[in-house]
Amino acid sequence: MAETNLFHFGKSSSPYETIARSDFLNHKWQDRSSVNNVNQLEMIAGSFLKPSTLTEVKEGLKKVGMSVRINPYIMEMIEWDRFETDPIRRQFLPMLSEIEPDHPAMTIDSLGERETSPVPNLVHRYPDKVLFLVTSVCPVYCQFCTRSYAVGQDTETVKKDNVSSPKYWDDAIEYIRSHPVIEDVVVSGGDIARLKPAMIKKIGTALLDIEHVRRIRFATKALSVQPMKFFSDENWFRTIVDVANYGRALFKNVYIHSHFNHPNEVTPLVELAMRRLHAEGIYVRNQTVLLRGVNDDPGTLIKLNKKLGRVNIQPYYVYACDMVKSIEHFRVPVQEIQYLEREIRGATAGFNTPLFVVDAPGGGGKRDVHSFEYQNEEYGIIGYRSPCIDPLKTYYYFDPLRSLTADIQKEWLKPGGHEAILAELGLGNLMRLAAE
Ligand code: SF4
Repeated sequence: MAETNLFHFGKSSSPYETIARSDFLNHKWQDRSSVNNVNQLEMIAGSFLKPSTLTEVKEGLKKVGMSVRINPYIMEMIEWDRFETDPIRRQFLPMLSEIEPDHPAMTIDSLGERETSPVPNLVHRYPDKVLFLVTSVCPVYCQFCTRSYAVGQDTETVKKDNVSSPKYWDDAIEYIRSHPVIEDVVVSGGDIARLKPAMIKKIGTALLDIEHVRRIRFATKALSVQPMKFFSDENWFRTIVDVANYGRALFKNVYIHSHFNHPNEVTPLVELAMRRLHAEGIYVRNQTVLLRGVNDDPGTLIKLNKKLGRVNIQPYYVYACDMVKSIEHFRVPVQEIQYLEREIRGATAGFNTPLFVVDAPGGGGKRDVHSFEYQNEEYGIIGYRSPCIDPLKTYYYFDPLRSLTADIQKEWLKPGGHEAILAELGLGNLMRLAAE
């Protein structure tokens, strides 16, 4: 690979024009140089932005549930001359003018993770799988994060419930050990990129030593937002390789799950990181969140999947954006998601085509977007059953208000409107969602 291509950006105007290549490619420098508030954004990129745009960001941040952290690698990807519409900017920096009123069914923990946690830091929803939340920090913070209730710093609207702490790990591991039905553990957070190697080793080996645990998945967004972590933090990288090798020797699988949302994120640095992982026999699957204004068109999704495939990352899921408070502007109606799925299926091999899912609010788990059993187009209500989780229950997802007629939007938003609509349609069991 030509060295000049390492920074795929190649733009003449960059906030980091004078930064040495060795710094830019160092994960510690990336962490140290991250932008964590609007003042830092102004200091670093103020000359690329109109004062009114900075005000937009500042005011936008007062409305959202996720704090800001963007590293220089991501800052470099932003096209500053089209800041308002840039798909990378949109994921990490809110603007007041794009924020929409929440659908009344939006909650802070839309998947009901805290309700399905038998011990702190562990979500046990599917019979044989658990989600082990080992940290509440990430290299960057995504505005649409499902776990905004815990991840990142407090914002003006959300006080974080950051319970992730090593002091709870033993309880979580003991719970897994004492439940032989559990075969599959997703180690996530937050992001395991923020764990020290000794912590990764401790968790990885403890889980693999449990006989009934067959698979571990390490979830990290670092591949897409801090790929230099995979070649400048040798100790961290080698620890992941060691845990994977330990699992392989026990005839168990250790995978990495990544999070790419836009083709621009698949850079030559990602390829370098993937070459290392591939050489070590570590398999990577990707989970994409479908985001309005970022990747909600067939061309972008096809390009993303192709680019992921070329660097040996398997596109696994495309998620409907969860119903988390203050992210209404990112959501796409279910019918449109179904259309997108139909458009991209067949563009490449089936095994390299992601499954489009709705993670059913209230803890229903991931359902194929086409598999709904109830639909009311007028009110934008879609119901999914999830027999392995609760055979008696239907879980409902709601289309964004903007996709409904003006009259129906008013009905949803008037005081008591939510309850009245659900009662009228005989869906009164959803009141719980409204009350959260
Ligand atoms: S990296 Fe994952 S956990 Fe962290 S803010 Fe983004 S979506 Fe949330």
